[in-house]
Amino acid sequence: MKTYTQYLTMHLPQRYGFVNITPQVAEAVRQSGVREGLCLVNTMHITSSVFINDDERGLHEDFLRWLEKLAPYNPDPDVYHHNRTGEDNADAHLKRQIMGREVVVAITNGKLDFGPWEQIFYGEFDGQRAKRVLIKILGE
Ligand code: ZN
Repeated sequence: MKTYTQYLTMHLPQRYGFVNITPQVAEAVRQSGVREGLCLVNTMHITSSVFINDDERGLHEDFLRWLEKLAPYNPDPDVYHHNRTGEDNADAHLKRQIMGREVVVAITNGKLDFGPWEQIFYGEFDGQRAKRVLIKILGE
């Protein structure tokens, strides 16, 4: 069995944002030489996500508004217990939990075997610093 590992570094200038990382993942699959297998993509940080959905701007705005309703940014330690540590990113931990840590995509015939419209995104909820994403590919 072949294995291949690659790390992406993400550094968003803003606090929140989504980045389509499908081209980088597809390139990793190509470099791996795997024709049949699985590709895991996960964020290595607990205030960001990796998820699959549509690359549509309106939908991304809807995600951000929906997440802000569920877990609004608020540094007040009386609102979020986590912020009693001196951090201000409790909302980012909650947003990440909703959007997920990782995705696994099948590799068929040397390509990511997506359904219609599926794309892989990095979701940032506490940006303005470098974070890593792991790509691990297993197969033949
Ligand atoms: Zn924190």
